[in-house]
Amino acid sequence: MDGSARSSLTQGAAPGAQTGRRTRPGGLLAMALSFAALTIPLTFILLGFFSNRYLDETARSAQNTLRLAVSALQGQLDRYQSLPKLLAAQLDFRALARDPQNIARIAAMNRALADINAQLEASDIYILSPDGTTIAASNFDQPRPFVGENFAYRPYYTEAIAGGEGRFFALGTTSLKRGYYFSAPIRLDDRIAGVVVIKVDLDPIETTWLGRDPQIMVTDAEGIIFMSGRPEWLFSAVNDLTRERLARTSATRRYADATLRALPLTRSETRGGQLLFTIAEDGARRDYLVVSEQMADADWTVQVLADPTPARLQARITVALVVVALWLAVMGALLWRQRRARLAERLAHQREVREQLERRVEARTRDLADLNARLKDEIAERRATEAELRKTQSGLVQTGKLAALGQMSAALSHEFNQPLAALRSYADSANVLIERGRTDEGRQYISRIGGLVERMSAISRHLSNFARSPGEKLDAVSVSKAVADALAIVDWRIRAEAVEIALDLGSKPLIVRAGQVRLQQVLVNILSNALDAMEGSAAPRIEITASRSGSRALLIVRDVGPGVPAGVIDRVFDPFFSTKGVGRGLGLGLSISYNIIKDFGGDLTVRNAQGGGAVFQISLDLAEPGVRQGSAA
Ligand code: ADP
Repeated sequence: MDGSARSSLTQGAAPGAQTGRRTRPGGLLAMALSFAALTIPLTFILLGFFSNRYLDETARSAQNTLRLAVSALQGQLDRYQSLPKLLAAQLDFRALARDPQNIARIAAMNRALADINAQLEASDIYILSPDGTTIAASNFDQPRPFVGENFAYRPYYTEAIAGGEGRFFALGTTSLKRGYYFSAPIRLDDRIAGVVVIKVDLDPIETTWLGRDPQIMVTDAEGIIFMSGRPEWLFSAVNDLTRERLARTSATRRYADATLRALPLTRSETRGGQLLFTIAEDGARRDYLVVSEQMADADWTVQVLADPTPARLQARITVALVVVALWLAVMGALLWRQRRARLAERLAHQREVREQLERRVEARTRDLADLNARLKDEIAERRATEAELRKTQSGLVQTGKLAALGQMSAALSHEFNQPLAALRSYADSANVLIERGRTDEGRQYISRIGGLVERMSAISRHLSNFARSPGEKLDAVSVSKAVADALAIVDWRIRAEAVEIALDLGSKPLIVRAGQVRLQQVLVNILSNALDAMEGSAAPRIEITASRSGSRALLIVRDVGPGVPAGVIDRVFDPFFSTKGVGRGLGLGLSISYNIIKDFGGDLTVRNAQGGGAVFQISLDLAEPGVRQGSAA
């Protein structure tokens, strides 16, 4: 049962195992594809986001640069702003203004201006007459001195001569050097007798901007670049060069004879709202992120142009990394999910197998319990049957006894009728002989009568054996006596059929544990069967041997009949088994004999002898020494 259960389990597990191995690559692919489809818009969104972020950063950094540039410029201008006014108040300046033709004063002033200029680290300092002509200048001894030049067209002159303080940025018409001009009027009493001008050089500041990134440039009110880290952009305009703008610029000769041109520039805005210049240069178009601040005093706009390329590149790299990381995360999550699903599937399968196993075990247990119950019922039934059988058998023992009694009656009537007839005849003969005086002969008859009486009393003694209770307790019984008694009972048949009896009961008498009458009954039965079997045989003969075997005695009865047919030899001890015809045999003799011997604790077996004939063997325990010897009863 175990084996079949195991094999059916294995069969049951097989389809489940296949289910466990089934994977769903399709589901994973579909998820991967839908995520890939999502990736494209996501990439654009991320790109926008990160571009804004990094451009903001670029703009912030440009703002810092812008602040530094503005403060550097402002610092430079602030240093010189109030100086013209201070100088204009000086006595020697006023003296010169009062006497502008005085050569000696002019010469002294020229030297003084050169000294002051050197100390202030300015570009030039000079004094204009009320009509705008230079009277004295710090560069009097330079190759192109300002002395004698008229600057009436410059706003710093017009503003100062009108009583204000002038400031102006321009390319020097004489020096062709850019500079910032501060001017103040020289007042004598209530009139303006001249103008002091300081030109400040901004080149050192601009020099620090050269070749730098981000680019720094300064545009004037018209949008013309006059300071720039990129020299090629100088005097280019970021605004359209309208006629008005050009007219205003040429009126002040701000840029002397420099050619003004428009910078090839397109304005746009980033997505984050930052100003973007696209400038075409060297055949390529380059983007610049622009931050700017107006310097109101100077009427300038300082602009910082930062290259957005690194920010854009950084944004792209970041987006690529984010997308790759997302991909990895999503793929990881999908794989993890799949693994979990597989694990869950496997666990479910294992659970299923376990449950199946439990169900089978339960079913088997139920089967076994049922079987057990059936077995118990069967055992009980068997016991009942056995008890019934025992009851029946004990009844049959009684019946067997009756049969033996019948046999004995037949034997008795046979045994008694003959001697009785002989007795009558002997008595009659004795009477006649005695009457005739033949007393001796008569006495012979009388002694024959005595012999016959003796024989009849012997038969009667056998009868008394049967009178004993069958339930008698076991006794020590002499085997030879039991045999002799049994032979005596069947003696009439032995003689009638001229059967040869060969007895070999050993030299030492054997005493066994048995019941005297019952053992005799068994022997009578076996002998009767032997006689039945040999009916009609030419030389009927029964061998009876008794011998000792260990603690047992073996009593063997062998006849020379046809033997027990091989097919029925196992059944001869069964109740009611008989091969004899109706009315001849009840089939009870051997069955009862078997049970009697079993009651003695012995064995009764049958076999066929090699030379033919049946051999019945009775094996009985030898009686313990000292146990009472079987009596004549
Ligand atoms: P019954 O003698 O009434 O038939 P038994 O129980 O004494 O009943 O014998 C059963 C059967 O055993 C007999 O019918 C006979 O076939 C067989 N049997 C017994 N003894 C012998 C024997 N000595 N030789 C051959 N067959 C025998």
